[in-house]
Amino acid sequence: MTETNFRTDLDPDGVLSVVWDMPGRSMNVLSEAAIRELAGIVDRVVEDEAVKGVVVSSAKKAFSGGADLTMLEGIARLYASEKAKHGEAAAAKAMFEESRKLSQLYRRIETSGKPWVCAIHGVCLGGAFELALACHYRIASNDASTRVGLPEVKVGLFPGAGGTQRVARIMPPGDALQMLMKGEQIRPDKARAMRLVDEVAPKDEMLGKAKAWILGGGKAVKPWDEKGFRLPGGPVWSKGGFMTFPPANAIYRRETQDNYPAIRAMLQAVFDGLQLEMDRALTVESRLFAKVLRSPEAAAMIRTFFVSMQELNKGARRPNNVPENKLKTIGVVGAGFMGAGVAYVSALAGLHVVLVDRDQAAADKGKAFAEKLVMGQVVKGRMSGEQRDALLGAIEPTADYAALAGCDLVIEAVFEDPKVKAEVIAKVEAVIREDAIFASNTSTLPISGLAKASKRPESFVGIHFFSPVEKMLLVEVIVGKQTGDRALAMALDYVRAIKKTPIVVKDSRGFYANRCVIAYMLEGHLMLTEGVPAAMVENVAKQAGMPVGPLALNDEVALDLGLKIIDSTRAQLGDAAVDPAQERLLRALVEKEGRLGRKNGKGFYDYPEGGKKRLWPGLADLQETKLDPDAIDVSELRHRLLVTQALEAARTVEEGVVTDMREADVGAILGFGFAPYTGGPLSWIDSMGAKRFVRLASALAELHGPRFRPNKLLLDLAEKDETFYGRFAPPKETAEAA
Ligand code: NAD
Repeated sequence: MTETNFRTDLDPDGVLSVVWDMPGRSMNVLSEAAIRELAGIVDRVVEDEAVKGVVVSSAKKAFSGGADLTMLEGIARLYASEKAKHGEAAAAKAMFEESRKLSQLYRRIETSGKPWVCAIHGVCLGGAFELALACHYRIASNDASTRVGLPEVKVGLFPGAGGTQRVARIMPPGDALQMLMKGEQIRPDKARAMRLVDEVAPKDEMLGKAKAWILGGGKAVKPWDEKGFRLPGGPVWSKGGFMTFPPANAIYRRETQDNYPAIRAMLQAVFDGLQLEMDRALTVESRLFAKVLRSPEAAAMIRTFFVSMQELNKGARRPNNVPENKLKTIGVVGAGFMGAGVAYVSALAGLHVVLVDRDQAAADKGKAFAEKLVMGQVVKGRMSGEQRDALLGAIEPTADYAALAGCDLVIEAVFEDPKVKAEVIAKVEAVIREDAIFASNTSTLPISGLAKASKRPESFVGIHFFSPVEKMLLVEVIVGKQTGDRALAMALDYVRAIKKTPIVVKDSRGFYANRCVIAYMLEGHLMLTEGVPAAMVENVAKQAGMPVGPLALNDEVALDLGLKIIDSTRAQLGDAAVDPAQERLLRALVEKEGRLGRKNGKGFYDYPEGGKKRLWPGLADLQETKLDPDAIDVSELRHRLLVTQALEAARTVEEGVVTDMREADVGAILGFGFAPYTGGPLSWIDSMGAKRFVRLASALAELHGPRFRPNKLLLDLAEKDETFYGRFAPPKETAEAA
């Protein structure tokens, strides 16, 4: 058989070199073709007496990012089509057989009777690292780019090609569970200490060492296939097991609120599998894997976290009539809280940054923020002294607008005041190049309105960051009425350069993410005013899958900002648009109690110096009524918190604020942490079905008012039994593994 994805070469000593090198791709992935070819190679190794051992390596910059998840999507589709044709049981069986093929192949490598060595350089993740784990010896290069790991949990799966069983036989189960649950990418030295790799060596020496290990009598039998094998932490029913599994279960519940079937199944795979010999253990793992693959959570998470995010990061929404801009220098005007963060992330991406403020001291203060962040990175060993100097050298603080002359793009982050912004626009446009783009980071002012102060509105765009800029991965690119394709393309190229994920949003009040966030916080406030204990509001939000409760979130963005939003809503939309109960609560907190949020150490929570934040006990006194906690329907509270956000997302689709479903889902998860296991608010609605969602929302509207009324679009989807992704299908593209 001739391979296209691998190159094989048998040397005179009988060592077969298998070099993974997929044509036309920058990264190797486990595709169906690659798996088929690897299976052919395994046959040859077993049959050909001349082959004494095998060294697997990669010709790419990295080993491999793992399985092509679109292949797994294909297996999920197989289930749906088999189910329609032959029923549930036959479909489940077909899917089980299909989804265990990789696991069976790896087991054949492990039991081929000949030693296999994996030489790992660059990232080696997921299914690719499971291949390495099936080999008898692993050598990792000591390169800064080398990482191993099993990140499957991050896309709603778990390592289903033997990963759970091999890791839990290499290290004590407590360590194994931690590694599997975190899904982290591990550096070579740490991997060596964890016994995930056997040796760390310079890249150039890896192949020689691999061959030497084979010729030196490297053993082709794994410890667990030998008689008398003992699990590193003892049997699961031992004292050690007792101290591991019940707490692991509790940690799982604490961390996930039991919202992630993949993690639950992974715990079970380890617990059950460790009580069996390897072949049976692998069958148990495969059964659980097939079950997880059928779950709506896995389908939604693969689509959002893998396929959609990758497509958006690659520029799915970029106008293709504009050549790519290679940005070199950007300007940031306003070196305050946001501007300083923008300057830092831009310099981190290798851009030169001219950082302008009203005077030199204010500009220097912005740079000082970058210095603080950089020092943190150096202390943690994530950045070298050289990198620090390069980054700080790239930020040029100044009060002189003329320094912006060479910029490709200028982003303003000055006060949220149209007059100040208009002045800045004029001053910047007076000095920048003809072809430079101007962007505003405004969070509330319409881009089209601000662009009126511009002489070149076609080169004017919104680039809306979220705070803290250095942590938040989402950026909304706002298209004003006159924003041209070049400006949009430049904004998207910039967001790509700083390695964040862009979503393209129509210029409208609140843009996208903040609208949903405001609805979420409102619901939390209203629950409090209805008499739900504050702790219950926060806990229920976490049970629903939100990373931060609505009250804690409000503290982060500031309570006085909430009041400002109420004021501007009243000014623009009238009294009826403001909820009086929410207004009373916020006015009492801000105006009577001086509680502004985390920024002054007191909001819904108290923030004691050096201590953990605690809900402010005085909240109970602000509640006009109090409900008996035992009489509260907790599942209704959970639904309220998610439904209100999902409804807002559905409204933005109807209004054309967001036009691409991928952006609505990715934006919700990266922007405000919408329950990740759902794959985003629209995936959530789609997976329960518009009909059911409409019933749920309508029932809440009966109880809690018109804010829960489903919009026209939802009613229409429900009536026609359609989905968001079905009706507004994004253009089909193929995705390869990250
Ligand atoms: P900030 O008050 O911390 O910073 C504003 C900076 O602009 C100050 O350093 C000020 O000296 C400078 N400045 C004011 N007028 C200037 C001028 N004429 N020339 C040069 N510099 C000038 O404010 P911030 O929180 O960083 O917000 C800045 C912008 O970002 C606002 O438009 C805001 O709506 C937007 N934004 C803020 C957040 C947030 O969470 N704070 C999030 C997204 C967007």
